Amino acid sequence: MRDEIMSHPDFPVVDSHVHLYPDPLALKATPALASRFGNAPAFDGTVGGCIAKNATSGIFASLNLPVATKPDSVGGTNRFWSGYAPARSKGGVFSLASFHPQVEDKAAEVARIAEAGFTGIKFHPEYQLFGFNDAGMDDAWAAMSEFGLVAYLHAGGERVFKPPYRSTPSDVATLQQRFPKLKIVAAHLGGFGMWDEAEAALVGTIVYLDLSHTFFWMPDAQILRMVKAHGAERILFGTDAPWQDQGEVLEAFLKLPLTEPERRAICHTNASTLFHLP
Ligand SMILES: [Zn+2]
Repeated sequence: MRDEIMSHPDFPVVDSHVHLYPDPLALKATPALASRFGNAPAFDGTVGGCIAKNATSGIFASLNLPVATKPDSVGGTNRFWSGYAPARSKGGVFSLASFHPQVEDKAAEVARIAEAGFTGIKFHPEYQLFGFNDAGMDDAWAAMSEFGLVAYLHAGGERVFKPPYRSTPSDVATLQQRFPKLKIVAAHLGGFGMWDEAEAALVGTIVYLDLSHTFFWMPDAQILRMVKAHGAERILFGTDAPWQDQGEVLEAFLKLPLTEPERRAICHTNASTLFHLP
């Protein structure tokens, strides 16, 4: 039985949470972030590095989540990653778009993102200095709901920021209640380091939860309990690579006593449906 649980999945595993940088930037950004996080990267932060590491980790494709830290870098970031938008990528790496709360015409920016073939947008309130329920963001959430774009949210604490955090599990729950048609993924099982609050506020809601930065950071028993209670059809496999080793995370995931249909939903079907991966 144990061998059966540990056996490699016979479906293509999608890692729904990685952070990649254009090649010249990766050379600087990856070592700088590594020293800031105090954490050696699993690869060099490039698309090629990710694909090579995936090949030895049992991962078929990765979804990149770019974060623009200034409003005027949104255009350039999205131009670069549009070649990897789900509608245009040749496979191996897909990318969501970035956005910034200080973008002036939010609805127009969301429309541009949808037109470029992206199927979702990553938000990180600590780096982008905003709250999900700030009134100024409502135009963006409304436009995203209309276009069917997924809001992929960092949630909970962050090793390099201090509390109080701007994106608690309850903030995510409030946003979903305010915009019931908005498709939301909350990273880190709904709130890094705030798992009891996430379990209370998000488990059982329609919010999707990803598994990045949960293994090795919280008890496996709580991960399993949350996954089972929330339902595998709203859980996404993700690693936060290169800031976690995607092979090690996949191995830890495969040790959880889940059924084959649950593993398939979490590692493959949910991501390919939600992000329209070809
Ligand atoms: Zn991340």
